[in-house]
Amino acid sequence: MVLLTPGPTPIPPRVQAALARPMRAHLDPEVLETNRRIQAFLRDLYDPGEGALVAALAGTGSLGMEAGLAGLTRAGDRVLVLENGAFGARIAQIARQHGLEVDVVSAPPGWPVDPEDVARALRARRYRIVAVVHGETSTGVRNPVEAIGALARAHGALYMVDAVTTAGMLPFSMQRIGADYAFTGSQKCLSAPPGLAPFALSARARAALGTGRVWYTDFTRIAAYWEQHAYHHTAPVPLHYALEEALSVVFEEGLEARRARAERLYRAAASVLEDLGFRVFAREGARLETVLVVTVPEFLDEAELRRRLRAAGVVVAGGIGPTAGRVLRLGLMGEGAREAHYRAFFRALEQALG
Ligand code: PLP
Repeated sequence: MVLLTPGPTPIPPRVQAALARPMRAHLDPEVLETNRRIQAFLRDLYDPGEGALVAALAGTGSLGMEAGLAGLTRAGDRVLVLENGAFGARIAQIARQHGLEVDVVSAPPGWPVDPEDVARALRARRYRIVAVVHGETSTGVRNPVEAIGALARAHGALYMVDAVTTAGMLPFSMQRIGADYAFTGSQKCLSAPPGLAPFALSARARAALGTGRVWYTDFTRIAAYWEQHAYHHTAPVPLHYALEEALSVVFEEGLEARRARAERLYRAAASVLEDLGFRVFAREGARLETVLVVTVPEFLDEAELRRRLRAAGVVVAGGIGPTAGRVLRLGLMGEGAREAHYRAFFRALEQALG
């Protein structure tokens, strides 16, 4: 079965093998050495600057989201969430659930968030955090994180970036973007199993941590384990082994080469699909290289098409949020972005449409 969903992604055999290594305790020197290597890789992945905390939370990408919102705010703080799809909406939902005052700047599905709209909101009110999704997986749109970061900085807000569909496949620099907190999920661009949320927290954000409304993902406690090697909770050691191996694979290839690999396949696949009557959902100029979202032609039933593709050996995703029932979503993250997988997809599509 070929896994072409925008997460989880296929796992390379070396990463799969790492999962089978003998169990060790979370404070064993071997595990602490694995953690140290993971941290070195995460500094290269996020470029967060001196004094940053880099580590992996024991949970998926959504935990990275919640940890940032809970850890960087005090009760009742006002936050600005930028929303143009299901994952921006999830940030707003979590923020509300944490009792924060939430304002939302939206863009229509398929369009990127407009920095002009963000500037207007920031002029009108003070915000503790500005939060955005870099690559919106529900629509395949890339948001202008650098322009938004400059605005957040100018207005004294902390800046949280969901890098779930980008970190590990596209060059990503928190220092260049002006980000204070960025996170991903291990199962996306890194092609590791799901279950870890690797993140980076800038020195500036560490100095401004909130009052600790959460315990499990409290960044001070997480730092105590990753930096001072004190027990906090039992780390999922096999997932750490797999993440370390996955990060080795990423940096053996290099981020620029990975971006080029995704972009090349995106263009080729989009062009063939458009010839067949599908339409790329994201606006030109804001297309996210790692998630190809295409509108299914009127004459086809999207759910039935996915069922037939799966029967032919290829799993793709349907829409979520604003794209539910209207699109196919194809992943170009990590091991998903391989020509052989896309050849298999087009063979399966031919069969499904036959
Ligand atoms: N943010 C984005 C952009 C995502 O694509 C996803 C998952 O698809 C998440 C957050 C949530 O990640 P998880 O499903 O690992 O909790």
